[in-house]
Amino acid sequence: MKRILVTGGAGFLGSHLCERLLKEGNEVLCVDNLFTGRKSNIHHLMDDKNFEFLRHDVTFPLFAEVDEIYNLACPASPVHYQFDPVQTTKTSVIGAINMLGMAKRLRIKILQASTSEVYGDPEIHPQPESYKGSVSTTGIRACYDEGKRCAETLFFDYQRQHGVAIKVMRIFNTYGPRMHPNDGRVVSNFIVQALKGQDITIFGDGKQTRSFCYVDDNIEGMHRLMNSRDGFTGPVNIGNPGEFTMLELAQLVMELTNSKSKLKFLPLPQDDPMQRQPIIDLAKKELGWEPTVDLRTGLGKTIAYFEEELKKGF
Ligand code: NAD
Ligand code: UDP
Repeated sequence: MKRILVTGGAGFLGSHLCERLLKEGNEVLCVDNLFTGRKSNIHHLMDDKNFEFLRHDVTFPLFAEVDEIYNLACPASPVHYQFDPVQTTKTSVIGAINMLGMAKRLRIKILQASTSEVYGDPEIHPQPESYKGSVSTTGIRACYDEGKRCAETLFFDYQRQHGVAIKVMRIFNTYGPRMHPNDGRVVSNFIVQALKGQDITIFGDGKQTRSFCYVDDNIEGMHRLMNSRDGFTGPVNIGNPGEFTMLELAQLVMELTNSKSKLKFLPLPQDDPMQRQPIIDLAKKELGWEPTVDLRTGLGKTIAYFEEELKKGF
């Protein structure tokens, strides 16, 4: 049994991770400032004697005694990370420094939830880990993209300079139950709009693509990466190579919800990447990992979740 710190543990991915680690018999310390996370995501874990929640902002130092760290704290939806962009960069950069400092002091492994956003609006398609990216340093997404890129740099420098055992995961668009109904990302937006009979908001012409991974597959990949062979650091892409346009996604959501919503076309936000698809050969080779849930199946489970949430009054 290990004592494991999960930053961002009350968020969408973090809450699923806490659940998984507890099921395996570990103690979990969930640290979250509840900016985009919710107590309701972890409510069912509160009575577990092995679970502890600490409301804390990772941009401030934290002293805890743990055996492993998963660093997930950071808003992930463009709407939320652009709300307070300075805090977003601080969370990625200072948060990483604080958590890496703890890993260095305790001589423990630390995993970073990085992102496909480090590739920016990619000029090569699909994206391998070796692609260095095409990111605006000054645009409205830069607080997130550059914050995450700098965090990766810090991880590799702590490894080279201080011998910290690091694992860096580049997560591609992941969806599933426990996304916030007002999260602002495309899957939750489309499902909530379809269920409420509201217009489906397509940004741009809807021909931009994303590759959507179901949350259970993501958590499996994250867990395998943390427990991968010593010396394997990544960065490694974890995502589902199934690539869809936003129009295709909207049509599928409307079909699965029997919705009569109409499509509403809105301007494409600045620097919105036109395409994104992971090459996952490295994850297959090193982690024996590949996704198992296709989009139709994953959306079905996610729609069922949102139906319940909407009944509660969202
Ligand atoms: P989320 O917004 O649901 O979760 C992020 C959590 O971090 C929230 O609970 C939030 O309250 C917490 N947080 C934010 N700033 C904090 C701070 N300063 N101190 C403490 N806690 C803080 O998003 P998610 O989808 O669960 O994403 C989790 C991680 O995975 C993030 O680091 C994100 O960048 C990364 N990621 C997610 C995706 C995805 O598609 N879900 C894709 C790429 C990367
Ligand atoms: N998008 C959209 N309608 C929405 C929300 C998002 O068409 O209501 C588009 C957005 O412009 C982007 C894609 O969906 O091209 C994915 O957006 P999201 O915010 O989910 O994640 P991103 O991959 O851009 O970080």
